[in-house]
Amino acid sequence: MELEFLGTGAGQPSKQRNVTSIALRLLDERNEVWLFDVGEATQHQLLKSNTRSRKVTKIFITHMHGDHIFGLPGFLTSRNFQGSELIDGGKPTDVTIYGPAGLQQYVFSVLRAAQVRLQYRINFIQVRPGIIFEDQQFAVSAFPMNHGIEDYAYRVVEKDTVGQLQVEKLLKLGLKSGPLFGKIKAGEIVKLENGLTINGKDFLGPDRPGRIIAIVLDTKDTPEIIKAAEQADVLVHEATYGAENSIMAKRHGHSTSLQAAEHARAAHAHQLILTHISARYLGKMADQLVKQAKNVFRRTYIAHDLEIFDIPAKKSERKDKIDVG
Ligand SMILES: [Zn+2]
Repeated sequence: MELEFLGTGAGQPSKQRNVTSIALRLLDERNEVWLFDVGEATQHQLLKSNTRSRKVTKIFITHMHGDHIFGLPGFLTSRNFQGSELIDGGKPTDVTIYGPAGLQQYVFSVLRAAQVRLQYRINFIQVRPGIIFEDQQFAVSAFPMNHGIEDYAYRVVEKDTVGQLQVEKLLKLGLKSGPLFGKIKAGEIVKLENGLTINGKDFLGPDRPGRIIAIVLDTKDTPEIIKAAEQADVLVHEATYGAENSIMAKRHGHSTSLQAAEHARAAHAHQLILTHISARYLGKMADQLVKQAKNVFRRTYIAHDLEIFDIPAKKSERKDKIDVG
């Protein structure tokens, strides 16, 4: 599991930062990539990275401001041609797009006007607060943000994986592998032929806890941020401004890096990555944003375009993390 920052700027592109898009690379987990927001020229950024458009199966849009969606029609259109480069010439897989009201109309209007014919299907899911996607492996929830427009933060929760069956321990009991092992692996209580009763859970290694990623983009302060980020392994948080511009941040519905750090601390997050940086913080000036945040939450980083953050799998059972940064 990796987070790749395709664009880390706010509002408009600058020489150093393209507008916002984040790829959650789930290549080991499910051979898929999920995109969060698709600012203009995201497809150009993808050309510079190892992330392949055809691997993108889900796109989550936070809100309808142009710097978060103007890259979507272009990305979807280019992805149309990705299948032909495959050895078997297969067509690209379908894509599901999650986002606020108006997103479907926007995408289809542009594609229709440009007479684009896609070889794959787009499924639209209009987001409402709560769980918006769930399967055996992952659940994604949406939380309403405070940005003067319908806007959501997304929380991605990987489910815990059941521990491995301790086969040697079972063999020592004189048991032979077969359907019985399946029951034991399922954690069932099993009566053996010799009359002994064993609890399957005693023969499983520790569960591997899943990871939690919270993506909080354009918003000013709201208690919903803490809910979205609770115990997150990685909190990605917008930091359009520094603390010295807190009045402007509030006026424009944005956050400062200091607020991002306060949210990370209050939510007991493990790591904070700042993104959506205003173009006024050029080059080393952006380091100031990290410095301000680190006073409150030590494990703070600032994302740069095309930077990849690895989110390693956890080894043992989850301990409650109370982290003051
Ligand atoms: Zn916005």
